[in-house]
Amino acid sequence: MEVVPVHTETIISTEECLKPERTNRRSKVSRDVETDIELLYKAVPQIGKVFRIIDKIGEGTFSSVYLGEAQMHDRSRQKFALKHLIPTSHPTRIAAELQCLTVAGGRENVMGVTYCFRKEDHVVIVMPYLEHRAIVDIISSLSFEEVRLYIYNLLRALKHIHQFGIIHRDIKPNNFLYNRKTKEYALVDFGLAQGTADTQIDLLKDLSGLRKVQRPVFGERNMNSCTLVSATTKASSAQTELVKVVKAEDPANRRYSSTGRGSSLKTQGANQKPQRAVPLSATCSCYNTDRVCNICLSRKQQIAPRAGTPGFRAPEVLTKCPNQGTAIDVWSAGVILLSLLSGRYPFFKASDDLIALSQIMTIRGSRETIQAAKAFGKSIVCSRELPRQDLRVLCETLRARRPSPDDDDVTPLPQHNGAISRKPSIPEDTPTHRPAIKQEDSYEHTPLHTERTEAVTMETEKEEEGGWGRVPDEAYDLLDRLLELNPATRITAADALTHPLFTDLRPLT
Ligand code: ADP
Ligand code: MG
Ligand code: ZN
Repeated sequence: MEVVPVHTETIISTEECLKPERTNRRSKVSRDVETDIELLYKAVPQIGKVFRIIDKIGEGTFSSVYLGEAQMHDRSRQKFALKHLIPTSHPTRIAAELQCLTVAGGRENVMGVTYCFRKEDHVVIVMPYLEHRAIVDIISSLSFEEVRLYIYNLLRALKHIHQFGIIHRDIKPNNFLYNRKTKEYALVDFGLAQGTADTQIDLLKDLSGLRKVQRPVFGERNMNSCTLVSATTKASSAQTELVKVVKAEDPANRRYSSTGRGSSLKTQGANQKPQRAVPLSATCSCYNTDRVCNICLSRKQQIAPRAGTPGFRAPEVLTKCPNQGTAIDVWSAGVILLSLLSGRYPFFKASDDLIALSQIMTIRGSRETIQAAKAFGKSIVCSRELPRQDLRVLCETLRARRPSPDDDDVTPLPQHNGAISRKPSIPEDTPTHRPAIKQEDSYEHTPLHTERTEAVTMETEKEEEGGWGRVPDEAYDLLDRLLELNPATRITAADALTHPLFTDLRPLT
């Protein structure tokens, strides 16, 4: 495994001094979490010598993240995030995640790494802890200025990692931590990252070799062959058969898609189970060294599709375009901006790629999407024409700053069943989990909420306060460029930073 720069000199053993408090704090966390914490101490005993684990703060398919505390030399206590990767992750995958953090992290709004523990299959990445709240909990109270700064800082992180040839591939608010008070930002989670052709991250190069050799069908993010088939089936049974994506050059694929069947592919998808943890052979010699031995390298890897959220995926990802670049992260940033400007999170709520693609078409237009896809060699068949939406009208309507157009047929706006509740009496963290577009009714226009007019009036003052009454055209112009359907002409993160929306924020250098 790659050597991680270690800054342990500032951390001292905390076992003794922290023990008394351990019991106190532990009573606040649930039994399950308590059990997980005990298991982690057991799996990687070195952890307990340095950290007191306080709580679990994140749980995903591929990792669990804990909040830990260590006592520093100056006797102060410092908080850390400890990411325990699932033991079935491929060693190269883990090493690549670490290398992204060590090479690109620690500056420009990209999370750094403090230390890494490993015992046998278990790897724990220790990072500085950045306190944050989920976007979904704060979206309704964000001012336009906060949104502008958030996107600016996200673009800074993207520009930075893209300079290293890192494609993050899972850009979404959960992976871009934001501390509202301190105005700190951090891009996390390189668990799905890939390298560009000229990436400076060696292990991302290794990873692409690994993908080619070991998983011709199920690339990390390419569980699509099966998704495509089942999605087509779903779309046709649900309402209208909306879209069919077919590889322009592959008639066999077209047949699969149009019939909505593909038993071989589907079976493969359904039967793939994540590999169980492979017990470490007694002959493994790499534990406690900075290398990964051949035994470890030849272990079976995780096969479950490590797909991110379809709603954040770029059209070229959704259509399985083989040449995907850093532009896919820029698209995701665009979806985030769309979400923040419209006050809806998540904006696209889709369970699979095809539904996600059809939702993109409702906003960006079907003809435009088809044309862009053609440019990157994909042909999309759409049963109904969907006009492109004006982004300001769309966002202001969803924010209930504007009445909905009367004629649903002319402008099939995504459903908005009522104004966002943001009456002053409601605490700022009132959940507004209402997505802008849900998969079941992406083309339906539900009747407006009856309290709508009242809500608009009551909101007006507050909205003005948040700057929502004077969102400049530049915001929607940037949004339009981030959500450019064709990756070849989509704005880059570097160029987006010089967009007129950010004139006052440009660094002096
Ligand atoms: P996963 O691959 O499981 O999504 P992440 O690296 O995205 O793992 O971490 C999951 C969650 O844990 C994040 O969404 C965030 O809430 C929390 N988290 C991760 N790293 C940190 C950190 N350095 N500081 C604070 N919270 C963190
Ligand atoms: Mg994550
Ligand atoms: Zn080994």
